[in-house]
Formats: sequence, structure tokens, C-alpha cells
Amino acid sequence: DALIDQIAAGEVVERPASVVKELVENALDAGARRIEIATAGGGKNLIRISDDGCGIPAAEIPLAVRRHCTSKLAGGLDAIGTLGFRGEALPSIGSVGRLSLKSRAAGSDEAYEICVEAGRPSELRPTALSRGTVIEVRDLFHAVPARLKFLKSDRAESSAITEIVRRIAIAFPGVRFELSGPDRTTTVFEAVPGDAPLPRIADVLTPDFADNAIPVDAMREDVRLRGFAGIPTYNRGNGQQQFFYVNGRPVRDKTLHSALRGAYADVLARDRHPVAVLFLELDPALVDVNVHPAKADVRFRDPGLVRGLIVGSLRQAFNEAGL
Ligand code: ADP
Ligand code: MG
Repeated sequence: DALIDQIAAGEVVERPASVVKELVENALDAGARRIEIATAGGGKNLIRISDDGCGIPAAEIPLAVRRHCTSKLAGGLDAIGTLGFRGEALPSIGSVGRLSLKSRAAGSDEAYEICVEAGRPSELRPTALSRGTVIEVRDLFHAVPARLKFLKSDRAESSAITEIVRRIAIAFPGVRFELSGPDRTTTVFEAVPGDAPLPRIADVLTPDFADNAIPVDAMREDVRLRGFAGIPTYNRGNGQQQFFYVNGRPVRDKTLHSALRGAYADVLARDRHPVAVLFLELDPALVDVNVHPAKADVRFRDPGLVRGLIVGSLRQAFNEAGL
């Protein structure tokens, strides 16, 4: 019922940036190559995400906005290959904001729209859309004034949205991202041909990061670590410039942050923050991404192994670079 939906929604949707994260992840799961994100009022008034992904067949649109309906769990929880899998985002958003979903499935010449307000879906209506999916969320949390009160200024919410998009964009260099709307001047991360990571990293961080970073590529017991570690004198770090990914998913994790500190312990002053972009790849069965609905946390089966890999391979890379 409506109250239970709103409580569950609070888990998935803490603030406008969490809506953006969920909707951008859906677009990526749908194979989008171009994703446009527009926001107004820090995302409280409007969030609109348009993608050119596979779209949703008409018959599945009503299911997509229902709780625990996901098209993505075919391989079971241990084999999650998509960013989403809980089937919670759209119903949660629809219970705390006014949601409109328009979609045109690949190969179909018809598009349909459904709206959800206070958790109640409308009838499916024909609409016009050339391809993909457009999701609009208006008046987020209008139904939950208590939650609205906890949000920060429009400017702060808007920069949290930018931050989420930057983090995701680094993991998908082949996808074009455009961030626009009355909240901001337009930011575009152009698609990088061949999915090369470094040009996108340079685009999202600063152009000179590439010239001041040491490439890392190491493997320990089937766990692979790749990425770029800023040289210690590259001092742009403010603690927000550490980007970690596990199987392509942006994560925040104490184990990883503390390992990075450990790796830099001998080469970086204690009051400085390293700048680094690190991608871990490992068997999905060895990492639990199912800890929290917002999915930024992870739990490694063997945190010591991951820590050892990061500290060991970064120190070795610093050594080889003569640092
Ligand atoms: P989940 O991502 O966990 O499956 P969501 O509530 O985020 O759950 O989405 C529900 C379903 O709606 C997805 O499984 C997918 O089938 C469909 N869907 C949502 N957004 C899109 C999109 N942008 N393009 C194609 N399909 C989508
Ligand atoms: Mg999803």
C-alpha cells in the first residue's frame, strides 16, 4: 500500500541524485549510447532522462512500474551483469514523485506512455517518440514533505547530480552523456571511440590528469585491478577525486579507500588526498553488491585480498616510476 511503498522508496530514493543514478543505470542496462539528463530546481522540480536504448515493449510498460518487477535477474543474484536488478526504482520513484514513462521498443513503430502518481499507474496511452525511453520525474517528494525538508539547497542537490553523472560516465566511455537544464550550463561527455578509458577520465577529471597518472594493471587470484593512480605531486585531490568501480559499478567502500591511503602512505603527505580511478573486476560471486538498495556499498568475500592487490600493485607501480 501507499505507506509501505513510501517507506521502501526512502531506501532507494534519498535525494534527487539517487533518482538520476537509478534512471541513468536503467538507460545503460538498456544499451543506450546517448543519455540526456535535464534537471530543474536541483532535481526537485524536474528530472528528465532520455535514452536511445532498447526501449520497453508496450505489454511490459505496466510491469516496469510495479514493485519487484525486473527483467534482469535471469542469471540469479550471483551473476548480476546489469546495474539494476531489484525492480524497485521505478515504483519507488512513482510513489514519491510524479513519474511519466514514454518508451518505444526497438523494432516497434509505436510508442506508449504511462504515468504514476502516489504509486498509482495510469492507463497505457499511445504517444510520440522516435526511439528509446524518456522518463520524467516532477515534484519529487511532494508527497513526502518530511523528506523534502532534509534536502539541501538546489545548488547542492544539483551538484550531487553532477557528481553521480561524472562517476557513472567514467565507467562508460563509449556512451555520450549530456547534462543540461535550468540548473546548469550544459555539460557534455562525448562518446570515446573504442571505449578507451583515459580520454573520458581526462574529460571528467582534468585534462592533465592523464599526464600525471600512472597506469595500473595487475591481477591476484582472479581479481583484476586496472586504472590510473595520480602521481603524488599531482595535488588536485580533495578527497572527492577517488573513483572506484567494481565490475563496472561505481562504489564507495571503506576497504577500497583505506587501501588507497595505504598504497600512498609512503609517497604522499598525510594531509593530502590521492587522485585515482580504479576498476576492479572479479567473479560476481565473490562480491556482494546487494548490501543496500542504493547499491553504492559492496562487501568483498575476501577484503584482505583486494586490499593486498591495491596496496601491492600501486606501490610497485610507484617504485617502477622511481617515486
Ligand atoms: P531494475 O532496474 O532493478 O530491473 P527498475 O524499477 O529500475 O528495476 O526498472 C524496472 C524495469 O523497467 C527494468 O527491469 C527494465 O525492464 C525496464 N526499464 C526501466 N528503465 C528502462 C529504460 N530506460 N530502457 C529500457 N527498459 C527500462
Ligand atoms: Mg533499475
